Amino acid sequence: MYVCIKDQIQNMNLVIGCTVGCPYCYARNNVKRYHMIDDFSKPEFFPNKLRLMEKRRPQNFLLTGMSDLAGWEPAWREQVFAKMAENPQHQFLFLSKRPDLLDIDTMTGPQSRKVRTAPEWVYSLTEQAHALHIPVFWKEDLVAPIMGGDTPVQELPDAYNKVLEEQKKWHK
Ligand code: SF4
Repeated sequence: MYVCIKDQIQNMNLVIGCTVGCPYCYARNNVKRYHMIDDFSKPEFFPNKLRLMEKRRPQNFLLTGMSDLAGWEPAWREQVFAKMAENPQHQFLFLSKRPDLLDIDTMTGPQSRKVRTAPEWVYSLTEQAHALHIPVFWKEDLVAPIMGGDTPVQELPDAYNKVLEEQKKWHK
């Protein structure tokens, strides 16, 4: 039994673009495919999306589905964090190469035929994160096909689970 994290998170791509430059970046491919911005290596801020935070029903928002927090300009952060402070009913998730939560996934799409995730990589990453007291989440794509019958490691921050509990009390 495992949860599908995609069903529990709403993407809010306030910033599109990233300066990190990972060769395997799925976001860069999507941005290029759908012509979202001209140059993925030059992040752009879309403050008009901030109004999504005004929803009263609690959400787990992902704010960096197409960027890395480390690449946000300070003025953008200030504006976003101020809006977050006005809307404490939500949880806000950020992806970064300096994680507070390590989310381990496997390659999906056409590349999955070329790159096969080895279970020992997953165990090694899990051990390294735990040694630094960083929680680990094995994504659903990884659990059954790659890790077989192993009990999944699916640790989530307490505040995240609290929002899910709160959501159950609301009608959609
Ligand atoms: S840090 Fe994330 S968004 Fe940035 S290039 Fe790497 S995979 Fe893409």
